[in-house]
Amino acid sequence: MTSVTDGRPEDDQPLLSVRNLTKHYPLTDGLLGTETGRVRAVDGIDFDVYPGETVGLVGESGCGKSTAARALLGLEEPTAGTVVFDGEDVTAFDDAACKRFRRRAQLLFQDPDSSLDPRMSVGDAIAEPLLVQGLTAATRRREIVADLLERVGLSAADAERYPHELSGGQKQRVGLARALSVNPDLLVADEPTAALDVSVQSEILALLADLQASVGLSIVLISHDLGVVRQLCDRIAVMYLGEIVERGPTEDVFTDPQHPYTRALLASIPTTDPRDRGTAVSLTGDVPSPSNPPSGCRFHTRCPEVIQPDGYDIEQRIWRRIMDLRQHLANETVDGEARASTTTLRETFSLPAQLEDDRADAVLETALEQIAAGDPDRAAALLATEFATPCERRAPSLEVTEAGQDAACLRHD
Ligand code: ADP
Ligand code: MG
Repeated sequence: MTSVTDGRPEDDQPLLSVRNLTKHYPLTDGLLGTETGRVRAVDGIDFDVYPGETVGLVGESGCGKSTAARALLGLEEPTAGTVVFDGEDVTAFDDAACKRFRRRAQLLFQDPDSSLDPRMSVGDAIAEPLLVQGLTAATRRREIVADLLERVGLSAADAERYPHELSGGQKQRVGLARALSVNPDLLVADEPTAALDVSVQSEILALLADLQASVGLSIVLISHDLGVVRQLCDRIAVMYLGEIVERGPTEDVFTDPQHPYTRALLASIPTTDPRDRGTAVSLTGDVPSPSNPPSGCRFHTRCPEVIQPDGYDIEQRIWRRIMDLRQHLANETVDGEARASTTTLRETFSLPAQLEDDRADAVLETALEQIAAGDPDRAAALLATEFATPCERRAPSLEVTEAGQDAACLRHD
C-alpha cells in the first residue's frame, strides 16, 4: 500500500488508511428496478489518520463527507476501496472483528437528538454501549458513567436527567460521553457543532481538543466550517463532488492553498476586516449533480481559474463568463434570448462590448449571432470547439505541489 504522507514522517504507522474509498448509490427505475444511473457520492478518496491527530474533511454540503464517514466506519458497504485500521483490512472483517472495530472507531453525530433516546436517562444512554460490549456489573458501569460525565464537563448527578431537560450543548456532551464510553481509538465527528448555538460551538470544540490531548484519541472531523477545522485539525482534506482536491497540513493549506476550489472556499469565510471585503472570489454556477459530474476536472464548471485554450489571451474574469455562457447553452437556458442583438446578449451575459483578444472576439461574436438567430445549439457547438478548456478533457490527479501539500489541478501538472 502506498503511503499518503502529506507532511507526516513516513516511518509512522497510520491508525487509519483509506484508499480509493468509493460509495455510489444506484438510481433505479421505480417499476422495473433497473439501474438508470448512479449517485457518485464518494468517488475514490485516499487519506491517512495517524495516532493522536485530528484530520479534517471539509467541503460544501453534498460533497460526500457524511457518506465517506459511514463507508469508512463500515456502517454502509463501500462500492470499492479499502479501509485499513490498525493494520487490518476493515472491509474483510467477519462479524466478531466488525464488532471490535465498531468499539474502537466511534461516530459522533451532528444532531445529538438523533443519537439520544428521549425515554432513556443520560446515565443509561452513556452506559448502553458498555452493556452491549458485555460490561454487566452495574456499579462499575455507574462509576464509568460518572467519570465520563465529568470528563465532558457535566456532573455525575446529570446521569439521572433526561434529554429534554438538557440544552443542545449539554446533549452533544452526552453524545460525546457515550462515544467515549468504550474507550475508542478513533472518533469520527460529523459536523459535531453544526446544530448548536454559535456560543456553545467553541466550548464543544475546546472539549474535543482537550479530550484528544488527554486520551490520545485520533479524530476525523467533518465540517463545512473552515474556521472550526483550522482551530482543531493537524491536517485537512478538501472535498469537491466526491473527490479530494487538496490535502495537506492545515496551516499550509490555509496560508497557501494550491487548489482553486480551496482558494474559493477560503475567500468565502466571512471576514471582520473591512479591507478584505469585496475581494472575495465568488463561485459562479450551481454545484453540479453527483449523478452526472462534469467531465475532466469536476470543478471546471465553476472554477475561476479554468484554463484557456492555447492561442487565446482573454482576461481571466471574462474567460470565466464565456465558460458560464457555454454552461447556460448546455443547460438550454438561453432560448429566450433569441432575436436580441449581439450587443444586448453581451450585456445579458456580462461580457464586454469588445474582447481585447480580436480572434476570441470574432468567435464570440459569431456565436452570439447564432444565438440571436435562434440557433443556440450551433452556438454551443462552436464555443465547445473553439473555446474548449483542457480542464474539461483531462481529470487531474492529486500530486505533490511546490508548496508541499497535494492538489488535483491541471495548473500544477
Ligand atoms: P455531505 O455530508 O458532504 O453534505 P453526503 O455524504 O450527505 O454529503 O451526500 C453526498 C451526495 O450523496 C449527495 O448528493 C446526497 O444527496 C447523496 N446521497 C447521500 N446518501 C444517499 C442515499 N442513501 N441514496 C442516494 N443518494 C445519497
Ligand atoms: Mg453531511
